Amino acid sequence: SRRVFSGIQPTGSLHLGNYFGAVQKWVELQNLGGDTIFSIVDMHSITLPQDPNVLQNNVLKVTASLIACGIDPEKSVIFQQSKVSQHAELCWVLGCLTTMARLAHLPQFKEKSATLKEVPLGLYLYPVLQCADILLYRATEVPVGEDQVQHLQLAQHLAKAFNNRFGYTFPIPRAVVGDTNVCRVKSLRDPSKKMSKSDVDSKSRIDLCDSPEIILDKCQKALTDFQSAITFEPEHRAGVSNLISIHSLFTGQEPCNICKEYSDIDTGKYKLVVANVIQDYLKPIRERTEKLMADPLYLQEILEQGSRKARSMAEETWQDVRKRIGFSSQ
Ligand code: ATP
Ligand code: MG
Repeated sequence: SRRVFSGIQPTGSLHLGNYFGAVQKWVELQNLGGDTIFSIVDMHSITLPQDPNVLQNNVLKVTASLIACGIDPEKSVIFQQSKVSQHAELCWVLGCLTTMARLAHLPQFKEKSATLKEVPLGLYLYPVLQCADILLYRATEVPVGEDQVQHLQLAQHLAKAFNNRFGYTFPIPRAVVGDTNVCRVKSLRDPSKKMSKSDVDSKSRIDLCDSPEIILDKCQKALTDFQSAITFEPEHRAGVSNLISIHSLFTGQEPCNICKEYSDIDTGKYKLVVANVIQDYLKPIRERTEKLMADPLYLQEILEQGSRKARSMAEETWQDVRKRIGFSSQ
């Protein structure tokens, strides 16, 4: 049967990339029925330095955002990764089945370590922990943004490697990824990069909770080129094309139809149009998030419930793994 797992780091507020690349699909899959499990992966987030107070608050913020976006704690399990110790335990076992060569060429490691003088071991191990997250729940489907596809391939490889060596234990997880052309939301300041929570320039992204004024300001400051026409050319005009993609994600209109509709205005005016679309769509999400954030006890209770459910699923797999690898004394 189908089991969906995915995770998000509490490294900041959710932005448009997280929403269109991942969370929107999570909600769709949740509403199709079956087991859906979503983790706030705090252990992943400390692969780069985090302020403890900020991190703690971000866990609640991400929980609130997910619920505001339509994740229903009655239908899905929402939990905090570090509350389920089996993630770290299975990570160790899988790490012993992985070679260093396989991890070194993964793009996220390359990108995130590029500017660091000293590279934390955790950043290198990150993809293995991610495999543990997925396999621990014997997930069959993993809805993620396109930047995670190569990590999913590692999870498939490790599931097969484990099954071959110790007998069938893990289904091979499948990545559920949207259309690359539109679903990879780019940075508003540097459209050669993806939009990221951890980008130091907050104007590079639009958060789901940004006020209308901030949305307008970020749209107006979005990097475009010296041409004023609205044309969709992701290769040559990445900036304006990213705005058109975002517009298209919000309205469902095809990029070429958007270009036709706005053929008589320039990029400056078009930015106002896009800002308006974003403001209207995000308003209810922002309001729901604010309401939820005003009730931290409720959010903590959701996470507590989620951890209990996740722990019992994780324990079942972990006991099976222990037996298979020879850790179990009976
Ligand atoms: P960080 O910069 O800390 O890595 P992030 O913005 O990349 O944060 P993650 O928590 O790493 O967010 O990823 C959560 C999910 O959002 C993943 O499935 C990821 O593929 C997806 N995602 C992140 N950024 C984008 C983006 N710009 N476009 C589409 N999907 C994205
Ligand atoms: Mg990321």
